[in-house]
Amino acid sequence: MDTVTLLESLSNAFGVSGFEDDVRRVLHPLVAGLADEVRTDALGNLIAVRRGRTAPVLMLDAHMDEIGMIVNHVEDAGFLRFATIGGWDARILPAQAVTVRAQDGTLHRGVIGTLPPHLLSTEERAKPLPAESLFIDIGADSAAAVAARGVRVGDPATLAYPFERWPDGHVLGKALDDRVGCAVLVQVLAALRSRTPEMTVACAFAVSEEVGLRGARTAAYQLDPVIALAIEGTVAADVPGVAGARQVTRMGGGPAISVADRSIIVRPHLVRALERIAASRGIPYQLKTPLYGGTDAGAIHLNRAGVLAGGVSVPCRYIHTPLSLLRTRDVEDAVRLVTAFVEEAHTLLG
Ligand SMILES: [Zn+2]
Repeated sequence: MDTVTLLESLSNAFGVSGFEDDVRRVLHPLVAGLADEVRTDALGNLIAVRRGRTAPVLMLDAHMDEIGMIVNHVEDAGFLRFATIGGWDARILPAQAVTVRAQDGTLHRGVIGTLPPHLLSTEERAKPLPAESLFIDIGADSAAAVAARGVRVGDPATLAYPFERWPDGHVLGKALDDRVGCAVLVQVLAALRSRTPEMTVACAFAVSEEVGLRGARTAAYQLDPVIALAIEGTVAADVPGVAGARQVTRMGGGPAISVADRSIIVRPHLVRALERIAASRGIPYQLKTPLYGGTDAGAIHLNRAGVLAGGVSVPCRYIHTPLSLLRTRDVEDAVRLVTAFVEEAHTLLG
C-alpha cells in the first residue's frame, strides 16, 4: 500500500487511548503478511515479529493511541459531559466536530457546543473554557434518545475531521501523532520482505502512550530488546512567531533524530550512529532539539537492565489538534532511515 493511502486509513481510524481497537483492526491484516508472528497482548499492544538471522531483538515502537475524551455524564436533555484523555489545549475544544465511539463500535458524530458571543461577557470571551463546562451535542433530545443510539457513560470520543490530500505532497489529518509512526513501521516491515534482517525485529504498535507511555512499558518487558527506536510524529514549530530552540523541528527537513527530551537522554553513540547512517545514504535529517515532551523511548530505555533506545520522528505541524499537517517526503525518508538502521543496528552490539 502506498504511504499516503496507509496514512489516510490510519488517520481516519478511531483510536483514543485505551480504545485502540479500530486502529489495530487496520494494522493487523497489513502486518500479518509481513511478519513471522503477530499477536495482541493483554493491554492491547499489537506485536509483529520478523525473525532475523540472530536472536537479539531490535524493538521498533509506534503508538496507536490518540488523545481524546470520555463521556462521564449524560444530561437529561441529551447532552454528553466529558473528561479529557491526554494533553489537550483547552482553547481548541469548543465548536469542533467530534466522533463518539459506542461500545458496539458504531461511530456517532457530534459537536462541542458553545454559546454564541452575544451571550458571553467580554471577560468570558477572553479566556478558554474548562472541559468541565463543555458538552457534546449529538443531536439527541433526551437521555433516552442517547441510550437508544447505544451511546453511554464510559464511551470515548475525539475531535475528528476526514483526512485530506494537499498539493506538493502534504497531507492534513487527525492523530498523525502517532499514526505516522505506525505507517513508518508497516513500510519498514514491507521493505524487509525481500531480505532477512540480521537482528530480530519486533514492531510494537503500542497503546496508551498519551496517558503515560503505558503500552510501550509492558511491550518492552515481553520483547526484552537490546536496542530500540520509538518512531513518533513530533512537533514541527516552523511557523510565524516561533524561532530558535522553540521550533523543535522543521517540516520538510527530513526525519528528526532525538537527542534528549523530558523522558530520555539518548546515548550519544546511538545519535551519532543514526546521523552517520543518514549521511552515508543521502537521507536528509535533523536533530530534535532537547526541549519538550516524552516518547515511548523514555519507558523502553528503563526496561529491565536498560535498553539502548533512541527516537526518530516525523515533523508534524499542529499536533494535539484535529488537523495536523505533514510532508510525505519526510515520512518516506523516515522509512529509509529506520530500514537502514535495521540493517546496521547489530554493529552497535558488543
Ligand atoms: Zn506521540
